[in-house]
Amino acid sequence: MSDNNLYTNIPCPATGGKKGYVYIAGAGPGDPELLTMKAHRVLLEADVILYDDLVIPELVEQYTAEKIYTGKRKDSHHFEQEEINREIVRHALKGKVVVRLKGGDPFIFGRGGEEIDTLRREGIDYEIIPGITAAHGASAYTEIPLTMRKVSSSVAFCTGHPVSKIQVPDTDTIVYYMVASTVHDVLDAVAAKGRSGETKVAVVQNATRYNQRSFTGTLDEFRRRERAVYSPALLIIGDNISQFIENSWYSRKKKVLMTGGDSRRYSGTDYVVVNFPCRRVAGADIETVSQTIEGIDDFSMLFFQNRSSVKYFFKYLFEHGRDVRHLSHMTICTSGRAAAGELLTYGIIPDCCLESEASAGLDLPGLMRKEGLANQRILLPCSGNVDESVAEELRESGNEVTPLGVYVHSAQLQEDAVDLEFIDEIFFSSPACVRNFRSLYAAIPDRIVVTPADDRTAEELMKQFGR
Ligand code: SAH
Repeated sequence: MSDNNLYTNIPCPATGGKKGYVYIAGAGPGDPELLTMKAHRVLLEADVILYDDLVIPELVEQYTAEKIYTGKRKDSHHFEQEEINREIVRHALKGKVVVRLKGGDPFIFGRGGEEIDTLRREGIDYEIIPGITAAHGASAYTEIPLTMRKVSSSVAFCTGHPVSKIQVPDTDTIVYYMVASTVHDVLDAVAAKGRSGETKVAVVQNATRYNQRSFTGTLDEFRRRERAVYSPALLIIGDNISQFIENSWYSRKKKVLMTGGDSRRYSGTDYVVVNFPCRRVAGADIETVSQTIEGIDDFSMLFFQNRSSVKYFFKYLFEHGRDVRHLSHMTICTSGRAAAGELLTYGIIPDCCLESEASAGLDLPGLMRKEGLANQRILLPCSGNVDESVAEELRESGNEVTPLGVYVHSAQLQEDAVDLEFIDEIFFSSPACVRNFRSLYAAIPDRIVVTPADDRTAEELMKQFGR
């Protein structure tokens, strides 16, 4: 049986042949409240959510569906578009409700078109839910009207990447997406098209997020000035850019970091609440991880699906004072090259690296059989939001499988821990939160107001931060 058959012709046994349903939805530019009500409803109904880099983790955390991060952060498995398409199809064919959640709008530089091509080919039903694109978010939150009577009567959305695709249309306003590495190429192209050096220019980074930052100037000034642009950022060109943007209604609000508790204590007119749930700090259930590592001799095989599972597993192994020699009795197996590559950095060449031969996806039970791998006691280090389907598939080939959560999807993003530079106040909801916070931040800048929920929390603040 070819993999293609597996995915297109054979009815899915678990669902009596019913194919699932896919929503391709936009998440908006960052502010969680800019999600549409429709997207919120389908996220509540979803069995699986596949979400992008640009979708902030806080937004997906509240939903109970299995969450799969398909972004490109250094720590996690890198999903190519093909692989994302396959994942969507794989879950849908199990009869699941899948939400493919993308930053902004799925049809503005979002590759939504490619995903629906795949779904059409596979005969899977889908619908598309628009989102607020970054240009609209940035426009509203920095007070740059994209059109304006007598000043701008046309607007174009363009890409700044790759350089060969930079276009300079003849519209009054131009919004460039994907400019982080090409901002100067774009500015040069605009100047070369004959726009006056006095044309107004703005860069808006992290639009609608607590760390939104914007700069303005003229085309000439920007071309002279080496200004680093951090992703995600937009470049807006046009005389509708007001001089107020650095003091917009959004930038005037105080940003309060809530480590828990009821955010209603801060009024929405004066504050932007940035949620920082302390439980995110722990990547895994440390107790279970310790017990499992203590009992590692009971397992005959280690199976890694991605780079993060390798990285965090070894982190805990080393923390227990053990090293690779303690794994010498085990068969070590990976699915995909990313995990195998990561293993090499620990001096381990996996015994087998299972990879799909067809475009339709990984037939794990088949590949395991082919490798003669059965009756194993498999330890499966994985995300805390365990993807049970992999464990099930490994069990299907006659193995005993113990999933071990060594990281949580959101914790891997903890590297982008909140940037305190943008924070005006921190609300600490408990002593435990103060301690967790201390494990990430050595100090709290003096200008930040700290507000403890009660006396015990105040005492802990004094102990940890001397505040
Ligand atoms: N589908 C998305 C765009 C994806 S392309 C949308 O409709 O918004 C990725 C680019 O979008 C980034 O390089 C950046 O230029 C822009 N972008 C997305 N979110 C942004 C944000 N919050 N602030 C500024 N630019 C953003």
